[in-house]
Amino acid sequence: MQKTKTPKAPAPLKKQAPGQTEAHIPSQDPKDKARQGQSSEMTEHAEDDAQGGKLDASSELTALWEKKDTEVVVSVVPTQIRGNSFTIYHSDIRTLRPHQWLTGKIIECLFHIHANKCKLGTRIYILNHYTAGVILFRKREEVRKHTLSKIQFDSYGAIVSFVNVGNIHWTFLYINAEESTMYLADPARNSAVQAESDNAAKKFSDYFKMRRTCCSKTDWVDITWKGGVMKHPVQQDGNSCGVVVCMMAKKVMEVFPKTPKMTFGTTTREMAHQRKVLALEILTASVFDKEVNCAMCAAIKPPGSVTHQTHTDWIQCDSCSRWCHTQCLQMDQKCLKEAQVGDWDCSLCTK
Ligand SMILES: [Zn+2]
Ligand SMILES: [Zn+2]
Repeated sequence: MQKTKTPKAPAPLKKQAPGQTEAHIPSQDPKDKARQGQSSEMTEHAEDDAQGGKLDASSELTALWEKKDTEVVVSVVPTQIRGNSFTIYHSDIRTLRPHQWLTGKIIECLFHIHANKCKLGTRIYILNHYTAGVILFRKREEVRKHTLSKIQFDSYGAIVSFVNVGNIHWTFLYINAEESTMYLADPARNSAVQAESDNAAKKFSDYFKMRRTCCSKTDWVDITWKGGVMKHPVQQDGNSCGVVVCMMAKKVMEVFPKTPKMTFGTTTREMAHQRKVLALEILTASVFDKEVNCAMCAAIKPPGSVTHQTHTDWIQCDSCSRWCHTQCLQMDQKCLKEAQVGDWDCSLCTK
């Protein structure tokens, strides 16, 4: 197949379903576009998994991990909130390499992937880790800015989240409404877990009462919350707390609402293996369509462009076929002309 390097105006639209023009796209939001492709893509990936597609994904991952950080989009993962998604860049996926510290974005993205796999979208609420941290560690005035007034917690059976402790450590938070119990589980060995879980129970009780005062929400206000301790394996190194948090969330979701058995290994070898499994889950859960969306901004239209703007310059990578807005590459007309004459590689494929 001959690859054109000619910038199109707008080229990727050619690849869309017949009859669909740019004007008919309901939103320029890449997340919306990503969502449109969700169901078919998901099915496709599930089949891939069954038929050895894992091998391809595995070699793709190895290549991504070997390359130095770039800001090329490698996956777009839908969240449990309709229309929202995580845009995962190459530099993000590289934090899953052995001995690296996982970012909150990666952990939260994995929570949404697991909830989706376990079909728990309406049964477990995934609380973003920033808000969880504010509720547990910040002053009342700041907590009041995070009422989540649109969320009706009692329509869910549980909350799962995680929190950043002292900017160096991740801990897992599990709030089970049926048991009226809150677990703040520390991936590291910690003798104060009961006290910390009790404290979490108090902080969240206050939080639910604050929601009643601020926005008349009475969900989970009348529950007498208590702190709980769950048995789980502990990390054996200084950087795998995020991986252990993901493993705990996975175990909770797999058997929810039953009490999970936390059986997984945490040796260096087992952690390395889990990191790879998690990274592959992010790649295979992607709904990003590299034929249609820009590999730099994940959108159809470049950031800041106006709706009636009809002309957009694109360039396609000769090596991986990703399309990029020239605007997102800060490529002027002169550079574009030069790129058209010779080969052009995206930053991920540049040697
Ligand atoms: Zn772009
Ligand atoms: Zn490329």
